[in-house]
Amino acid sequence: MAEPKITVVGSINMDLVIGTDRIPRQGETIIGSGYSTFPGGKGANQAVAAARLGGYMTMIGAVGNDSFGKELLRNLTLNRINTDAVTVYEHEKSGMAFIMLSKRDNRIIVSPGTNHLVDKHLIKKHHEIISASDVLLLQLEIPLEAVMEAATIAKQSGVKVILNPAPYRSLPIELLNQVDYLTPNDQEAERLLSEIDDPSKIEDKLVVTKGKQGVNMFDHKKCITIPGYDVEVEDTTGAGDTFNGAFAYWIAKGDSLEMACHKANAAAALSVTKKGAQSGMPTMQQLDNFLA
Ligand code: ADP
Repeated sequence: MAEPKITVVGSINMDLVIGTDRIPRQGETIIGSGYSTFPGGKGANQAVAAARLGGYMTMIGAVGNDSFGKELLRNLTLNRINTDAVTVYEHEKSGMAFIMLSKRDNRIIVSPGTNHLVDKHLIKKHHEIISASDVLLLQLEIPLEAVMEAATIAKQSGVKVILNPAPYRSLPIELLNQVDYLTPNDQEAERLLSEIDDPSKIEDKLVVTKGKQGVNMFDHKKCITIPGYDVEVEDTTGAGDTFNGAFAYWIAKGDSLEMACHKANAAAALSVTKKGAQSGMPTMQQLDNFLA
């Protein structure tokens, strides 16, 4: 069977991490350890997770024509992700996250850069890619108008839509109506449900990730819990992104909701046993070995 076609419309960032013994106080300068750069952004991370499993991936997004932008594009290509629909803005900066990482704590500032230039016009330009997909995978690190436009195009073409509502923001009901699956984590689910007049309207779309406790999904309003795997945790960064990429892959393959949740739960568990977001995302072979 041909590999499923998945389109991700979302963010592409460079994560710049400086290790430190402690977070500096106001006005204080301290010496940290060396810094590292890691390709990130929820959109790109989720595309990489699905690509590792074998998905035929296309990314729609934007980077700047700076050194980070070039590295980010190269990383996507190395991961077998089609970047023809990633716009390169000549005079703009790529998105980046600046992360201070200490043993006990971290602080993150995101500079959205070109991710903020992903608007509905840019999405319209690529409508044929979206309509020809099996699944459209979305998050909330780009402007909402782009997310809504992509979901509308997908819905009109009968393409399944998965929305990972992260980082959380209030969402219009028109968008929620167009989504087939919503994949918040625990805290995001709580906020989402508190903001909706009639939560039963979206209940069957909900796939809630619960960290080491696994996943909750709904079948005809009945909640089914898929327990998490007991693994040795090294780094949980990108666990949710691995879950979403893997979940999109199996939904696009035609698996049942429950089966897709089971396998994505395993892929995400495996990802937390390794350092880094993208570097811990398993291949199909690694996942098969884990489940054997
Ligand atoms: P997010 O990273 O978006 O906050 P979660 O923390 O809910 O999302 O993690 C997503 C998924 O990753 C979980 O549903 C689970 O499958 C897996 N996962 C996360 N943390 C662990 C852990 N400590 N042990 C096993 N699996 C985990």
